[in-house]
Amino acid sequence: MLKGKVAIVTGSTSGIGLGIATALATHGADVTLNGFGDRAAIDRIAKDLRERHFRSGYSPADMSRPDEIRQLIADAQRLRGPVDVLVNNAGIQHVAPVEQFAEERWNAILAINLSAAFHTTRAVLLDMKQRHWGRIINIASTHGLVASAGKAAYVAAKHGLIGLAKVIAIETANDGITCNAICPGWVLTPLVQQQIADRAKHAGVSIEAAQQDLLREKQPMLQFTTPEQIGALAVMLCDDAAATVTGAAWPVDGGWTAQ
Ligand code: NAD
Repeated sequence: MLKGKVAIVTGSTSGIGLGIATALATHGADVTLNGFGDRAAIDRIAKDLRERHFRSGYSPADMSRPDEIRQLIADAQRLRGPVDVLVNNAGIQHVAPVEQFAEERWNAILAINLSAAFHTTRAVLLDMKQRHWGRIINIASTHGLVASAGKAAYVAAKHGLIGLAKVIAIETANDGITCNAICPGWVLTPLVQQQIADRAKHAGVSIEAAQQDLLREKQPMLQFTTPEQIGALAVMLCDDAAATVTGAAWPVDGGWTAQ
């Protein structure tokens, strides 16, 4: 379905991004991976995709740096062709009450979780418009729709990311381009494992107990969404069946925001 399409998934060396990159590659896209981590492990991921006959590349661009973001897009355009599918997924978390929230953490979260999507999007739009086809998917969160204490920067950035998707959707409505946000609830990735570990330590309970506690606090459905499920939704948003789905924010959250 995505054969011949060129895709970039930011923050795809782990978790949800890796799930999306694998799903897009499985459906034929030529995917550029991006993100941090152990270089040998990243090389293994790219090799694994290639061994399954999927085309893929990798860029270590830091999503907090506009110059590196521009380079990521320019390199992908040069090496793989004009970008058809852009998934803005890279994200970090920091939990603290506002009065104790380090300014440096605020700036980093806003840069990586929100501003990066502005920089990537503006760099790919001209090509998408010229080719009259494009899919832009912002990985927001339930925290783009509702708030939780301690997550000021994350909640502000994710609300912004949904707002950005809506603006891009309107501006590109008649250019063959769609722009949507996906809003996962809990997905068991390193980003959430850290929060579970912090909870377990703070409450003096086991990791398993802290995990159940985390789910019970927010989600009626007491199970995690998987990166593969988010990947499948991203693929669906790329399908012609979803050609008029634009400006939407899709909860995948076990009923979290239904309450
Ligand atoms: P993760 O920590 O497993 O993956 C984050 C990815 O982003 C990694 O590949 C990491 O290397 C990359 N990254 C971090 N900083 C970067 C930077 N400066 N430049 C480039 N890459 C960078 O986390 P995840 O849970 O898979 O999160 C992916 C996205 O999904 C994030 O935007 C997150 O906010 C969102 N999300 C996650 C959950 C969840 O429950 N896990 C829920 C809702 C939304």
